[in-house]
Amino acid sequence: MDYLPIFVKAAGRRCLVVGGGDVGLRKTRQLLAAGADVTVLSPRLCDPLAELVLGDRVRHRRAVFTPEAVDGFLLVIAATDDPRVNAAVFEAANRRQTLVNVVDDPKHCSYITPAVVDRSPIVVAISGGGAAPVLARKIRAWLETALPARTGALAALAQRFRDRVKATLATLAERRRFWETVFDGPVADHVYAGRDDAAQRALEQRLAGAAADGPAAGQVSLVGAGPGDPSLLTLRALQVMQEADVVLHDRLVAQPILDLARGDADFVSVGKAPGDHSHSQDTINGLLVHHARQGKRVVRLKGGDPFIFGRGGEELEALAAAGIDFQVVPGITAAAACAAYAGVPLTHRGLSQSVRFVTAHCARSMDCLDWRGLAADRQTLAFYMGVNQAGEVARQLLAHGRSPDTPFAIVENGTRPGQRVLTGTLAGLDATIGLQKVVSPSIIIVGEVAALAAELGWYSPTAAADDAPAAPVALAATG
Ligand code: SAH
Repeated sequence: MDYLPIFVKAAGRRCLVVGGGDVGLRKTRQLLAAGADVTVLSPRLCDPLAELVLGDRVRHRRAVFTPEAVDGFLLVIAATDDPRVNAAVFEAANRRQTLVNVVDDPKHCSYITPAVVDRSPIVVAISGGGAAPVLARKIRAWLETALPARTGALAALAQRFRDRVKATLATLAERRRFWETVFDGPVADHVYAGRDDAAQRALEQRLAGAAADGPAAGQVSLVGAGPGDPSLLTLRALQVMQEADVVLHDRLVAQPILDLARGDADFVSVGKAPGDHSHSQDTINGLLVHHARQGKRVVRLKGGDPFIFGRGGEELEALAAAGIDFQVVPGITAAAACAAYAGVPLTHRGLSQSVRFVTAHCARSMDCLDWRGLAADRQTLAFYMGVNQAGEVARQLLAHGRSPDTPFAIVENGTRPGQRVLTGTLAGLDATIGLQKVVSPSIIIVGEVAALAAELGWYSPTAAADDAPAAPVALAATG
């Protein structure tokens, strides 16, 4: 972010507007709306400004600008039509560390004013940082239609009841839940329909009910976060994430996804980096039980789908044993997502009639695999966690009769800005991984369908500057 978004309490604080024309008038009105003590510095004033001065709403300094004029003000606005005067105001204010805004001249601003959707006491401020004013305006128009006109009245009602709710409901979690039912339920409907008395009665009833019910029981939602692209979350995942009190997430879950969870939830990374065993499965199970017992709504967020190589089942067993309520929200598993984003249909008439999701995590787990079955033709294999064991995977498949010409597609960082797709044939799998320096997370898809990536690949993201390093191209590697 280039700017720090803040709301400044301007009521009663001295603010200076340099310039007595129409622009100065507009800015003066904005400052007055926030209760500021406004001085307009200008040799001349337009009529409406002169009236404000006559009515004692605004002070007037009849003078030409000199640098000392900015002394003692909270902030300064330069609104003259003379660029030299505006530059002098900017310079003088900056030297004194006073906030300054030169109207319509972003380069000479130490602060900028956002577009505003005003539902006081709810105020939404939007800024495009000067980059795309039209887009910022569109967003504002969209918010204007999305936020009911009486949103402010609803907030004001809540404000009147705040202390009583606090006195009635002991814990923060209870109060949070109470307010959620208020803002989503009949109380809000009454307010939006202009029935303030009915809204107040409904709110009182609800408060009495909540006090009688006592604290709600906690529960855990085991949620699949999908492969990385936030738009691949399910709507249900988004809902429970926005109601969460605590989010326990794996390291693999990308920041843009975490950003969609409720902002004031507690975030705990219990992620396992390769070789990092700081959080054993027992510790994670214990944390889930601990938070749920405190009455919290816990979201356990896992990459992909929680029931595919996610140890989700083990966590549920621990919750069931502890008598804690849970639900499961599926996610798009890496194989399905990577295949889609690489243009590899996992099944395809004439080429593949079944798919198998296989873990190639370590030598021990691979010893248990049914290699003979895996080596059969006309099926697709998706290997998870296979980057380090790819050589062994290829050797076993070949040894059990799969053809060396069987196509593969490796999808690295699937669905993310740095996605890479590498294709070849089984005999060259290990060499490709070494030469192209393939990293985790990657899915290795083996089967005739993998060859379709060349024709059906469609996703070519532009990597953001501070995002994944790889060039987003599908490289053809020969075996
Ligand atoms: N529960 C997860 C899998 C966890 S195991 C799911 O359903 O997807 C972790 C493995 O998933 C990684 O080693 C990698 O093989 C695969 N994986 C996860 N995200 C991926 C991504 N964005 N691109 C490629 N592979 C991914």
